[in-house]
Amino acid sequence: MKNDKVLLDHGSGGKISHAMFSELILPLFENSELSKQDDGAILTVGAGQLAFSTDSYVVEPIFFPGGNIGDLAVNGTINDVSMCGAVPKYISVGLIIEEGLPLSELKTILESMAGAARKAGVKIVTGDTKVVPRGKADKIFINTSGIGVIPAGVNVSGSNARPGDKIIVSGTIADHGITVLSTREGLKFDSDIQTDSAPLNKMVQSMMTSEYDIHVLRDPTRGGLGTTLNEIAVQSCVGMTIFESSLPIKGAVRGTCELLGFDPLYIANEGKLIAFVPEKDAQDVLEIIQQDEFGKDAVIIGEVTEKDPGRVFLETLIGGFRIVDMLTGEQLPRIC
Ligand code: MG
Repeated sequence: MKNDKVLLDHGSGGKISHAMFSELILPLFENSELSKQDDGAILTVGAGQLAFSTDSYVVEPIFFPGGNIGDLAVNGTINDVSMCGAVPKYISVGLIIEEGLPLSELKTILESMAGAARKAGVKIVTGDTKVVPRGKADKIFINTSGIGVIPAGVNVSGSNARPGDKIIVSGTIADHGITVLSTREGLKFDSDIQTDSAPLNKMVQSMMTSEYDIHVLRDPTRGGLGTTLNEIAVQSCVGMTIFESSLPIKGAVRGTCELLGFDPLYIANEGKLIAFVPEKDAQDVLEIIQQDEFGKDAVIIGEVTEKDPGRVFLETLIGGFRIVDMLTGEQLPRIC
């Protein structure tokens, strides 16, 4: 690594985050579970398999339209466990609180966490609370870890994409990142942009219990759809083409991106998944997703190709092609 200090870029989820993981973290902890680099670790326990995942939340501001740091933290870990093809069951919560946080705000956050867990049918079963002096943290940071059970026969991984697979996204992209950014910057719009934070476990269970093949599941959170597709292209050693004309983006979100110079392909989502499905099953799986309360706007956005392994191409509205690279630089720190 070129720099001798940690930069905000290291937390972007993009290129520099990946470099830090592969050059600093992975060599020290190397094991077969970590090396897979999926949304969670797949653990063989007795005769069965568990998915185990952890995530920390430092979003600023802690309250934003459609949610707050509490439900975001619960939904985020539910989704990471779900993206392993698992049924999430149990969650832990670690709170790091700055002295001075109003107790009423803490209560609202905890109520949101309890509500999110109840809605998804998972239990918060263990946790920890630390308080640090004023100025040593920013209001509240939350870590959540989750455990889920992987049904027998399920094999979902970022390394399972195959040429010919169709790429499905479960709804509009960039809603969460643009909501948090707009709230932070005090931008006012004549629209109801809000976070898409949502639990996707029921959608995933409908997909996994269907007769259809699901090769890859992933939630395009930090780094956005563009970065997530690149991760899968590298893991599976395949190429991809996505179609600009198919990308679902709300008008107000698109407008804000244009105004502020952001590419919606790199903006975080917190209630969306992408699925890689063999062509023969794609339409049926799409319809299963569309029947879920959080999947109404699901569409097929592209396909996996044999050529240019590790590369993602966007076919533009005018029929040209451009490379969609992994996110470089940190455009939106503390988005989740
Ligand atoms: Mg994830």
